[in-house]
Formats: sequence, C-alpha cells, structure tokens
Amino acid sequence: MKITLHNDAKSHTSSEFIILAAYSNSKEGKKAQTSKAAMLSTDRKEIIAAYEQVPARNYFKGERGENFLFTGSQGVQILAVGLGDKRKTTLEHIRRAIADAYKQAAQRFSNVSIDLDSFDTKQLAETTAAIVEAIGMTSYVFDKHLSSKKTPKLQTIYLDTLEKKSHTKKIEEVIKQSLIVTDSIALARDFVNEPPNVLNSEVYAKLIEADSKKLPGVKIKVLNKAQMKKEKMDLFLSVNDGSAFEARLVHLTYTPKKASSKTKHIAFVGKGLTFDTGGYSLKPADSMVNMKFDMAGSSTVYGAFRALALLEVPVKLTCVLGLTDNSINSLATKPDSIVRARNGKTVEILNTDAEGRLVLADCLDYTSELKPDAMIDAATLTGACLVALGHETCGLMANNDKLANELLDAASQANERMWRLPIFEEFSNDIKSPIADLKNMGSNRFGGSSKAAAFLQEFVRDGISWAHLDIAGIGDGQGHLPYCPAKGASGLVIRSLIQYVQSQKA
Ligand SMILES: [Zn+2]
Repeated sequence: MKITLHNDAKSHTSSEFIILAAYSNSKEGKKAQTSKAAMLSTDRKEIIAAYEQVPARNYFKGERGENFLFTGSQGVQILAVGLGDKRKTTLEHIRRAIADAYKQAAQRFSNVSIDLDSFDTKQLAETTAAIVEAIGMTSYVFDKHLSSKKTPKLQTIYLDTLEKKSHTKKIEEVIKQSLIVTDSIALARDFVNEPPNVLNSEVYAKLIEADSKKLPGVKIKVLNKAQMKKEKMDLFLSVNDGSAFEARLVHLTYTPKKASSKTKHIAFVGKGLTFDTGGYSLKPADSMVNMKFDMAGSSTVYGAFRALALLEVPVKLTCVLGLTDNSINSLATKPDSIVRARNGKTVEILNTDAEGRLVLADCLDYTSELKPDAMIDAATLTGACLVALGHETCGLMANNDKLANELLDAASQANERMWRLPIFEEFSNDIKSPIADLKNMGSNRFGGSSKAAAFLQEFVRDGISWAHLDIAGIGDGQGHLPYCPAKGASGLVIRSLIQYVQSQKA
C-alpha cells in the first residue's frame, strides 16, 4: 500500500472514500454550539453542502469515537471522524480514529483520501506522523502461513492538502520517516510472530544479519557458541544447554556520519528467547502456548535500532541481542546448578524458567564493557509485571533517575504506557544465596519484577546508567488499541525508544 501526499488538491484525489476530521467544537466554535450537528472541520463547500443535505447529521456531535458516514457528489463516501473538543484532542486520539477509519476502508475501497487540512493544521507535521503511524501499524498482517490470504482492496492512501508544494517539504519528510518507523515495527512483529519451528536462534541471527546489511553506518558481529564460551558467558550458555540450536550473541553498532569522541553513545540490550519451555522447571501446557513471544525484547530493541539507523540519528548506538531457546534434553541445566557469570559472580539456578535474566546478565556485562552513556534493556521478563501494572503497561526499572525520567517522558510523547517500579535494597538482599553469590529467584513471589531487576543490576558495571523495560504485558495482545493486532506481537515501546534517542543531544 502506498501513502502519497497530494498538494494543491483543489478537490479530493479519491473518488471512492474521503476521511476528514470533525470536532465537537470546531474553529467555528460558537456556531457549532448553537447548531445541533457537529461542524465538519473543512472549508470545502461541496462537502459542507452534501453534509447539510443529510438530516441524520443532527445526531452527530463530533464526539471522540463517534463517526458519521454520508455520500458526497458523484457517490463518494465521506467519513467524518469525531475527535471531540479540539482543544483537548491529542495525537493518540488521531492515531486511534485513523486506525478505525482504515479498518472501515481497507476491504471496500481501492483508494482513499485523508483530508489533512481538516485536522489541527497548527501542528501538521505531528498530525501527519500520527496518521501515517496509524495506517502503517493498522495495515500490518501476519498471513504468510495462510494458504488463502485476505488481501486488502486498499492500494493507495492520498493525504490531500490545499497547501502548495513549497510549504510541505517537511511533511514529505515526515511521511518518509514515519514509514521507516512502522516498517521497523512490522519487522519486529514478524520476528515475534514467526513460530519456533521456523525461527530459532540461528535463523533469527541470520535474518537480522541480512536486514542489517541494508542499514547505513551499521556493522554487525555475531558470536557463536564457541566464541561466547571464550567470552566466559557461561550463565547465558547454561540456558542453551538443552537446545538443538546454538545460542547467538548479535552485536550491532551504528556510527553516525559526523561522529566524534564526544558523540553520545546509547546501548540497547534485548532478551531473545525464541521459545521458552521453562526448561526442567517446565511450564504447564497452557502457559507454554505463545512462548515464541519470549523474544519480543530483542525484536523491540532491534526494531528501534534499525529505525534510528535509517533515520540517521546523530547518536552512536549499540544493540546487543541474546538469542537462544530454553528447551530440555539430558544436558539441559538442572535446578540447583551453580554457574559462573561473565562478570565472575556465581549464580544458583533455582528455577530454570527464570532464564531471561541469566541471558541478559552476561549481555549486560558484555555491553557495560563498551562504556555507553546509557544502557537500556528490554525483555518479556516477568509475569509479575502484569500483576503489578496490568497488561497495557511497560514496567520501567532503573539505577538512574535522569535516565528513568527521560524514558518516561519519551513514552508519554509517544503515547505509550510506561510506569516505574523501584529496586529497593531489600530486593537485592533477597536474591543473595547462602551457597553462591546470587540466586535467580527471590524467596517469595512478591515484587517479582523488581527482584528480577535487582538481579540484572548485579551485572551492570559501576558508573553505567541503566534502565530495564519489562515488556511482558505490553509486548503482545494489545487489541484494545485499534492500531495493534488483537493477537500477536504489538510492536509497542519501539516508538518510545526512538523518541528517547531522538530527544538526546548529539
Ligand atoms: Zn522462562
């Protein structure tokens, strides 16, 4: 599907379907309040005339979530999407309204016009980004394993504006950038949705390697098992012991064109469990379904990394991904094992299903060595995160308030839900073992997300600002958002990470 900006569009490009905004108090506010119907947010006379001929418009108030469909001249269908009070409309309201409108159009029309001028034109760039993001995220389908695919009829979306081309250079750029973001979200969703018999650690590393070759300024290094052994990543490798596939550590670097020794360096680390059976601490059958999703941390950070490289941000980036599955054979790690981590600390493994933190531990130590200015990991780490914060929220834990606040700000600007949880000293004490330096479980189930973070913190070297994002809830099944699939990977948090890096001064 193509998204095309049409300047100087005296009439709408599509003769099939037009989407435009309506507010409960449009710029003709006073008039709107005295009239029964909502005012359409357009000056186009032929549309207003068609609207005024429909008696049912009297019931349309333009409230948020309220839509009104009517027929214009020559049979064109016009959908007015209600956005409520213009002064209170946010970009997220626009994102959701466009996602709903896209769904109405996708199977019925081959081309659609969105009337850009009907939205708040004071922030046209931001509005356009929200519209393109909504279309890009909503149009995603994972249908490669279906014998008969339901291909949408919709081929082209025109963003129509009366503005002259000379005024909309920035908008063209915004469309291009937003598509980079949504393409990266789609790729991240694809990785997670791919079943474990197709995508294992070795295949996953190869796919990322192939994709990274297309990115400007990016270098990739993939460590195999022998190389990881040399790196003393025994804690990570203990998770791989029962697998038929070799673990992989993917290390990507993006260097901006004008890099100097002063260029800021941000590192991402991602948990990539291509499937998690729980190991010998085996998951019950019902909880094991969908454990292909346990790699969402790695695809989230890779999605953000690749978008940022394509956007050519002036910040140096590192992205380290720990890839393996957690399976069982006679060599698989048994509970009670004590294993030495890359940083020298010994860990008593009491539950082989708390494996993500073992993989991340060695990855965090490895990444710390590169001395980034900030290190952010993402992982589907704990069910406790859903208990604490719900399915709709990304848990944030950090050793640095400034970094935590910057991430919260970025998430809020991206309209994604993120909430900070503490790492108290008591939690760190609770993961100490009497017979090893650490154990991989707390002594009870309380504060599970924070105790997992307390464990990870043991592998972050002194002086490194670090934040941990627990995406166990927000990573999939976000069907309450019209631009996310009801089932499967959500691709959320990628936009927050992009926003965070873009807000950094080079
Ligand atoms: Zn697990």
